[in-house]
Amino acid sequence: MSDRSRWIRPRNLALAVLALLVGAGGVVWSSEDAGRTVRLRAAEAAGEAVTRIAQRAQVQERAADFIATPVEVRKIGGFDFLYQATGVGNTHLIATSEGHVVFDTGLSIQAAKQRRLLEEAAPEAPVTHVILSHSHQDHAGGAPFWSDEGTEIVAHREYPEEQRYLKELEDYLHFRNRTLFPWMPEEPSRSGLLEFGNVVPTRLVPNHEPYRFEQGGIRFEVLPTPGAEGADNLCLWLPDQKVLFSGDTFGPIFPQFPNVFTMRGEKVRKPVEYIATLERLIALEPEFVVPSHQEPAAGREEIRAALVKMRDAVRHVHDATVAGMNAGKSVHELMAEIELPPELALSQAHGRVSWAVKSIWEYYATWFHFDTTTELYPVPAAEVYPELTELAGADALAERARAHVEAGRPVHALHLLNIALGGEPLHRPALEARREALQRLHDEAEAGLGNSYEMDWLLYRLRLTQEALDATEG
Ligand SMILES: [Zn+2]
Repeated sequence: MSDRSRWIRPRNLALAVLALLVGAGGVVWSSEDAGRTVRLRAAEAAGEAVTRIAQRAQVQERAADFIATPVEVRKIGGFDFLYQATGVGNTHLIATSEGHVVFDTGLSIQAAKQRRLLEEAAPEAPVTHVILSHSHQDHAGGAPFWSDEGTEIVAHREYPEEQRYLKELEDYLHFRNRTLFPWMPEEPSRSGLLEFGNVVPTRLVPNHEPYRFEQGGIRFEVLPTPGAEGADNLCLWLPDQKVLFSGDTFGPIFPQFPNVFTMRGEKVRKPVEYIATLERLIALEPEFVVPSHQEPAAGREEIRAALVKMRDAVRHVHDATVAGMNAGKSVHELMAEIELPPELALSQAHGRVSWAVKSIWEYYATWFHFDTTTELYPVPAAEVYPELTELAGADALAERARAHVEAGRPVHALHLLNIALGGEPLHRPALEARREALQRLHDEAEAGLGNSYEMDWLLYRLRLTQEALDATEG
């Protein structure tokens, strides 16, 4: 048994405890007469429990690691009026003499503590504005905790539509999210402050017109930055301080190759719009970039160089994909051959070039790849796998797959094993070969690009394979 499978188990236990906690909390939050303080305490306790469980179970799953970030407040950029509460998603408070402006609100289960700590740190004042970088749960989930009477809730004009589809597809998305971020509760919250999808912005910002206001002598510019993590992305720019609160516009690592596609399964992210967004942000010449995940970055030259590199990298991948499509190449050929040139090398720990290629391809061409007739009909290849297994024999397929793994071709092995296991789902040698192929891919991913989504996916498949192997015992 590998190291990996040893630490998977305590986490499952942690999840069961978490599901109970969040479930129990839901009763308190949905109760009509429960006082606000009680509800906030319950929410804070549930959030604390998640963080402690994640830390104790030593969950080491990259993007999923964010849950282990403690909720703490610090000042940022050397400014005495800019506060950040850390967490899965960071919440920012800009204190002015005429009230607080909040940018992003983090995850619902951490929002109560984030708000309490921020208000303890900052001078007492009402919250005049809550600005949401986009509709994702880790940025807008905490909004109900900040929505006081009269608070202006500022979002992109596309926010209601993005929130609508994320809400309508909540079960589908929750399954995918939970597969990749196993600390999430089993079910999404269906009521109370923790429920997703009830944010009603009071001001919508269209793409062609930033929203500017001044408060307590500080100038604020809410900039539409579509194409990043969705059509409803916003940044907050403080022109006098040259601070850019970037939300998820660059993703959680700055700089990186951005996630112009997400495995979590959302609407397509538009590459050309994203390049235009980067152009506009480069022109601002920010001196501080404060993303809503992880650490801020400082230094005008460094930030400019990073932004230019990200823009050029996305443009390179986009243009190479378009050129390949025009040259009649297949999506698989392009996924294999398009790379970033050395001068544009960027972390692919989150966004990944080969997946961006596929995503850009399908953004333009959609799902019909013009390859085979069978693409047009609802009969997948898997329907004939049992026949192929019968003809070739599951033993022979498993043995050939193992040879592929040993020769360094784990994906070829997985194709053969899809056939073998399609015919005989609990064929032990085929399952063992699949475990080896997945483990090899995982080890290669870890030693190579370190893409967190790839590794999380492979760990998920390893868990399923191990469960199937366990089922064959006895
Ligand atoms: Zn995020």
